[in-house]
This record gives sequence, C-alpha cells and structure tokens, in this order.
Amino acid sequence: MTVTPPRPQKISPRVTSFIDGAPIPADAPGHDIPVVDPTTEETLSQLREADAAEVDAAVRSARRAFDEGPWPRMDINARKDILYSVRDHLRKHAEELAWLECKNVGLPLSSVLWHVQRMARNFEFFAEVASTAHGETYSQTSGFLTVVTREPKGVAGVIAPWNAPLALSSMRVATCIPFGNTCVLKPSEYTPLSVSRMVEVMHEAGLPPGVVNLVNGRGSVTGDALVSHPGIDMVGFTGGTATGRAIAATAGRNLKPVALELGGKSANIIFESADLERALDGALAGIYGNNGQQCLAGSRILVQRGIADRFIERFVERSRNIRLGDPLDPATEIGPLCFRGHMERVLSYADVARADGARLLTGGRRATEPARGWFIEPTAVLAPDNDARVCREEIFGPFATFLTFDTLDDAIRIANDSRFGLVNYVWSDDLPTVMRCTREIRAGTVWVNTPLMRELRAPFGGFKESGIGRDGPQTSLDFFTELKSTIIPIDPVKMHRYGA
Ligand code: NAP
Repeated sequence: MTVTPPRPQKISPRVTSFIDGAPIPADAPGHDIPVVDPTTEETLSQLREADAAEVDAAVRSARRAFDEGPWPRMDINARKDILYSVRDHLRKHAEELAWLECKNVGLPLSSVLWHVQRMARNFEFFAEVASTAHGETYSQTSGFLTVVTREPKGVAGVIAPWNAPLALSSMRVATCIPFGNTCVLKPSEYTPLSVSRMVEVMHEAGLPPGVVNLVNGRGSVTGDALVSHPGIDMVGFTGGTATGRAIAATAGRNLKPVALELGGKSANIIFESADLERALDGALAGIYGNNGQQCLAGSRILVQRGIADRFIERFVERSRNIRLGDPLDPATEIGPLCFRGHMERVLSYADVARADGARLLTGGRRATEPARGWFIEPTAVLAPDNDARVCREEIFGPFATFLTFDTLDDAIRIANDSRFGLVNYVWSDDLPTVMRCTREIRAGTVWVNTPLMRELRAPFGGFKESGIGRDGPQTSLDFFTELKSTIIPIDPVKMHRYGA
C-alpha cells in the first residue's frame, strides 16, 4: 500500500490550557516547558503549565457544564449527533493530527495513521453505546413497579500518557462524555501538540463549552492538582503502574472511584507447534511496534527449547535490518524514543541485563544513524531466568527479552510469574496447547496466532498490577454511570399511621 506522508502543518508556538470552550491566551503569564521534536532534538513549541488555580478553573467549568449545562440533559440523539460531528471533524483533520503526532511523539507514520482512525472511531463507538444503554424494571413484587435508570456520574479527571496520545486520550474522553459526563483532560507534558489540537477540533465540531476541558502540564503539578481536586467525581487514568498507585491513593482519600489502565510485561509464547514464520513476524511486531513504547508489547519472548536457537538467530537477523528514521517517512519502521530521559532509561537496561547475567544478542546502544534524535538500536537479550530484572520490569522500548522453556506447564508458569497481567500472546497450531494457555494465563487479553488486534466491543484492561477496571461498552457504562432505583406503588400503599 502506498502511503502519502502528511504535509507539514502549523505548530502553535505556545500551547496553553483550553477551558470553558476557549484557549487560555498564548501570552498569559506562566511557567513554560519546551516541547521537543525527538527526531531533530529541536524545540517545537513551549507548553505553558496549568497551575492549581487553572486546574480549579477547568474543574469548575466542567462542574458547571455538568450541574447546569445542556450536555447531561440533552436528548441522546442530539448528543450522538454532536459526537458523530466530532468524529467527522477529526477525520477531516486527520492529516494535521497525524503530522503533529509524528513530530511530537516520534511514532512511525504507519502506527499514527492507525491511531488517528481509532481516535475518530472511539467517539462514534461510545456514542452508539450510550444511545443504546437502558435501564431495568421489576414488577414481581405485587403492587409495586421498580424502575432502575442510569444517570451520568459527573465530572471526570482523565489523564493520558505520551506513548500514543491521540488514541489513548480519545479513549479516555470517549468512554466518559457520551454518557452525559463532563471532564478535564490532562495529556503528558511531553506530547501536548496533537491532543491540544484534537480538543480544539472537537469544539469546532459543536461540542458545548465545558464538556471537555484541557489542562497541560507536568503530572506532579497539573496532574496532581486535578486528581486531588474535590470537585471531580471519578478518575480515568492510562499510564504507568507506579503513577496509577499514587493516583488511586489520592483518589481513595477523597473516596473517588478510579479506572486504571496500567503497565505490562507480557509474555509472547512461541511453541514448537507454531507456524514459525508467522510467529517470527508476530514476535517482531509485538516488541518493535509503536517504537516498543506500548503497554501491550510482547516484551518477554518465551521460546520452546527445540526451536529456540534458530528462532532467536532469525529474530536477531531481522532486528538488525529494521529501518530507523524519520517517523514521517513511510519506509521508517522504528522512530526515535519520545524524549531523552526515556531513551537513557531504556539504554540503561543493557547494563541491567549484563549485571543479571543476561546475554546481549543485538543492539543495546544509541544508534549512530540517524546521527541526531533519540534513536536506539533495536535490542534483544537472552535472560538466564525469569528473575532477571529485564523479565520483571517494563522497559517500554524496542528491547526484547528472550527466555527458553521446555513444557507447556513451564510456559504457563513463567508467563504468570509476573506482577503484571495485561496481555499475552500464544503462537501454536495445536488446539489443546492454545486452549490450556487461554484458560490458565492470568491476563486481560490473550492473543492467539496474531499480533495485537484491539476489538472495541470487547473489554480491555489488566489483571494484577496492570490495572483496575476495563475499557469496553458494558464496563465503561458501569464505571461512568450511576444506577438509580425508583420504587413506585401501583395502588395507594397501605401504611401504618403512627400516632393516628
Ligand atoms: P506515567 O509516567 O504514569 O504518566 C501517565 C500520565 O500521568 C502522564 O500524563 C503524566 O504526566 C501523569 N502523571 C504523572 N504523575 C502524576 C501524578 N502524580 N498525578 C497525576 N498525574 C500524573 O506513564 P507514561 O510514562 O506517560 O506512559 C507509559 C506507561 O503507560 C507504561 O507503563 C505503559 O504500559 C502505560 N500504558 C498503559 C496502557 C493501558 O491501556 N494499559 C496504555 C498505554 C500506556 P507527565 O507525563 O506530564 O508527567
């Protein structure tokens, strides 16, 4: 398929918050943080950080829009029309948004084009979910009719990470507002450009003021002010497990419910009974897709001993041929890592691996070509056992860790020996092997003989420290709505007349 690269777009020189339907003026005083292009290391823009007072203004706007505004009270068809208009406007701006995402995040165009489509689809899908949501009635108790209705829950604080800003921010917002809620969104300080534009486009599409407010800034400042604000009713968070733990603790102190989509260290299990060509393609895609910066990376590759040497050798050969380069070049397979500190952290795991007795098979260094940008060589190590830190910690880059195993029991035991439980991949053409894995693996998703395929209709989320809750039609409806039981007598109720 021929892909036309997006044309260069305008970048706002200073990215501010967007509150109550309007941006904070670009010349407003405040603390600036450079927004840097990971490919060229040049500054693209400045992010003006929202402090606690500005977060308060954003929450108040969302609160007003919820308590007094049209959005929660709107006929569902009118709300759905606006969300479909949001979808259409986002599609019209696909080229602009894709360009901003490639520039700011460094993700290859092939990933970004998919994310942009998913962003638009998220709004359409959850608009449909909201429009078909329904209550219950109970008439079994004679003389009474009980009606159970669903109501929007209120104002959400929603927080998204930098690794796929458009796909993940849109998911956080799209699971929330179609049910009549309003929100304040905080993207990552590293990647504000595409998401800020996404929020503007949503308003150009007719979203009423205050339904989606955007605050930009660091997690420790802007994010913390949002999560600890008493005016929010719930928190939707996608990000790392350590941050998720801190956010859940803060929200818990205020008795606010949280939905958490967190990290992973997923096993990608290759059995001797697999179609090995397909398994090899799948293993490479599982760890190198999205620059390796994906929660659902198949980062622990478990290979059955009889095929391990040849499989690993071929994986390494292919890793060395991967095309690093400008994310906007359609031929690029891996772009730069998102920011310098992250590149340094990923590279530090080459030493961590060696210290634990793992063998470096390829990579482990900053790339020399391209000469600029935060590129690292695609990396693979062979770990001595599953206790090595490279098997236990999420590295979140193009860094594969191999382990070998002997039996099906071993594979399942190693796969489950992790504090995470987000996803797992299984490659085998033997049905009993596949069925045992799907039954016994402790993870929210098991992909069989395929790299990631995200089915919006199915719940997505993690077991164990990979999260609390699920994104999905029923699960998001449950999280973002309140249930109310109204009990009505059919005939006048006979009552004891106290004191009569
Ligand atoms: P992160 O460091 O946890 O940050 C996520 C978001 O939380 C960012 O917007 C961050 O802001 C903000 N934040 C940080 N500290 C905060 C605090 N104390 N209070 C409120 N907000 C705070 O994660 P990341 O490095 O951006 O993303 C990578 C992680 O996300 C990985 O672990 C990955 O597995 C996980 N992830 C999970 C899923 C899933 O669906 N399960 C999907 C994608 C990614 P700043 O960046 O501005 O500090």
